[in-house]
Amino acid sequence: MFIADNTFATPHNQKPLNLGADLVIHSLTKYIDGHGDAVAGAVMGSENLIRKIEKEAVLSGECIIAPFNCFLIERGIKTLPMRMRTHNYNGFCLANFLERHPKVSKVFYPGLPSHPQYKLACKQMLTPLGFPGFGGMLSFELKDEQKLEGFIDYLISHSFVELAVSLGCAGTLVQIPYLMTHGKISEEEKLKKGITKGLIRVSVGIEHYKDIENAFREALDKAA
Ligand SMILES: *Cc1c(COP(=O)(O)O)cnc(C)c1O
Repeated sequence: MFIADNTFATPHNQKPLNLGADLVIHSLTKYIDGHGDAVAGAVMGSENLIRKIEKEAVLSGECIIAPFNCFLIERGIKTLPMRMRTHNYNGFCLANFLERHPKVSKVFYPGLPSHPQYKLACKQMLTPLGFPGFGGMLSFELKDEQKLEGFIDYLISHSFVELAVSLGCAGTLVQIPYLMTHGKISEEEKLKKGITKGLIRVSVGIEHYKDIENAFREALDKAA
């Protein structure tokens, strides 16, 4: 069975069922809701498979979304395409800006030719009009990992950027995988996954692009 988690890409940028997936899962909490104010999930696939999951989910009593969350998600999803266009634009621009910055050693973003799966991303991350859309998720490493704390402190206290592990909402969020999302796994596992001490993950928001770039440039220049 081939199951794809399409949370980062969203259905606007990538359609795994058309690419051969049996099931697709989404955290609706992220881009689909889009405002960081509701928690929910969804599973998509053939009726056969969904019926099987449905039975187990109903029995476990864990598949009921609260009515108010349904309301918020239904409201959020109406702006998904226009939000994704901006996430795609801002993510692409910030990835390129960071890759050229002298204080950054590495940027991970599927829309950069330096990404090992760039060609694959160009083929399968396609927006409705057929243009590639690489989304708003990226991570990067500082050349000097000793400067990480100062950089994050400066970034979040001198700009609109927030430190948080969630993603996919209107505002730009940063988090430190080594200490936060992957803080609990062993050193060895972290190394295997490429989670270094200087790694910073960004959920690039839909603010004006120049504001985002300025926030990162200033923090890099002054604190990194
Ligand atoms: C957040 C996230 C999940 C979990 O979703 P929740 O709505 O927080 O339970 C699963 N997969 C990915 C890729 C996520 O980003």
